[in-house]
Amino acid sequence: MNIRKFTPFEHKIWLSSPTMHGDEFQYMKEAYDTNWMSTVGANINEVERLTAETVGCKYAVALSCGTAALHLAMKVAGVKPGMHVLCSSQTFSASINPVCYEKGIPVFVDTEYDTWNMDPVALEKAFELYPDAKVVVVAHLYGTPGKIDEIRNICDRHGAALVEDTAESLGATYKGKMTGSFGTVGICSFNGNKVITGSSGGCLLTGDKAVYEKVKKWSTQSREDAPWYQHEEVGYNYRMSNVIAGVVRGQFPHLEEHIAQKTAIYERYREGFKDLPVKMNPYDAENSVPNFWLSCLLIDEDAMCSQVRGEQDALYIGEHGKSCPTEILEVLGKCNAEGRPIWKPMHMQPIFRNNGFVTREGDGRGRTNAYIAGGKLGRDGNPADVGADIFDRGLCLPSDNKMTVEEQERIIEIVRSCFE
Ligand SMILES: *Cc1c(COP(=O)(O)O)cnc(C)c1O
Repeated sequence: MNIRKFTPFEHKIWLSSPTMHGDEFQYMKEAYDTNWMSTVGANINEVERLTAETVGCKYAVALSCGTAALHLAMKVAGVKPGMHVLCSSQTFSASINPVCYEKGIPVFVDTEYDTWNMDPVALEKAFELYPDAKVVVVAHLYGTPGKIDEIRNICDRHGAALVEDTAESLGATYKGKMTGSFGTVGICSFNGNKVITGSSGGCLLTGDKAVYEKVKKWSTQSREDAPWYQHEEVGYNYRMSNVIAGVVRGQFPHLEEHIAQKTAIYERYREGFKDLPVKMNPYDAENSVPNFWLSCLLIDEDAMCSQVRGEQDALYIGEHGKSCPTEILEVLGKCNAEGRPIWKPMHMQPIFRNNGFVTREGDGRGRTNAYIAGGKLGRDGNPADVGADIFDRGLCLPSDNKMTVEEQERIIEIVRSCFE
C-alpha cells in the first residue's frame, strides 16, 4: 500500500453533507418576509403534511430534532422509571438516550448479518429473559430496513409498543411500505447529515389523532386551553422553527433524487469492489428498498490484518493483501475524504457497561465479553456477538450525493490500494 501515489482531494469529500437546491431559501425568506419567525407558520404545517404523506402515516408532529421526537415517543410508548426497554444495539446513541431521559433501562438486542439490524431471534429471546418489557426501540441502520414485520409480530405477541427510528431511513421501504409506518409510533430526523435536511429538525409519526394532539401540546410547554398559562403536565420546548421548516419543505421534492444519487453511489462501490475480499452493507433485495443513506464495507475475516481498538484509539499492523477499517479510514483521511467506523454498538459503550445484552447464542443475562471478532463463536459458526464483529470489520465510506463519478472512482482506487 503506497498512499503517496494519491494526490489528496482539493475539496473534502464528505461522508454525507447537506445538499441545497434553492427552494429551501425561498421558503425561509417567506417566513422572514411574512414575519412568521416563530414556532408557528405555514412551513411547519407543510412539513407535517409532507412528512405524513411521504411516510404513509396519518399524522406527523414537527419537532426541533429527531432526538426530541424520540423522547416524546418514549412518553407515548409508556416508558416509566425502572422499566426494561429492548433496544437495537447497532444504532446511534440518539436512539437510546431518550430511554434514559425517562429513566427506563435499555437492554440491548444483538444484530443479524442479513441487514445489520435488530435480530428477531435475539428479540424473542430478550422477551423470555425480560418478560416485563413492554417497549421496543428499533432503528433502520444506514437506511437499510430491518426485518420490521417479524419484529412487529413479536412485539404484538408480547403486547409491546414498537418505537420505529427512521432517522437514517426516510424513504426506504419494506414489503412496499415505508419505514416509519410499522411502529406504534415512529420518528424521522432532518439533521444536517440525513438524506434530506432542515439543518436540524425531526418529526414524530403516528396514526392516532389523540397522540398527535398530545405530542404537539407537550412540545409547546404543555399549555392547557385557558386564557392564562395553565399547566397540568410537564412540558417541553421541542417545536420545530418555521424557518427550519422552510428548509425541510424545500428539500422534500428532492427526496427521490437524493435517494437515486445514494443508490448510484452504492452500486458504483459494489461494482468497484467486486473482486476485493469485502462485501457491501447487505439488504433484503426481495423485500426491501433501502434509501442507501450510507454505503458501507465489511472486510472478509481472512482479509483482516491485525487491528486492536482501545476505548479511544486504534492500532493496526499492515499486511500484504489484507487491510482493516483503521487503515482504510486513515488512508482516506490523508486523501481528504471522510469515512467513519461503523457505529460502535451500544452494548460496547462504557456508559451501558452494566446493561443487559441479548444475543441469539449467549445467556443474555450477563455480559458475554465476546466482542473480539473471530473470538467466541456461536453454535452456527457465527461470532456470538454479531454487532461487535460488524464494528470490528466494517466501515462507512464517503457517501455524499454531491461526490462526482470521477471522485468516487478515486475513492475506490484508494480503498483498493489498501489491499495491495
Ligand atoms: C441522527 C439520528 C438520530 C437523531 O436525530 P437528530 O435529529 O440528530 O436528533 C436518531 N437516531 C438515529 C439512528 C440517527 O441516525
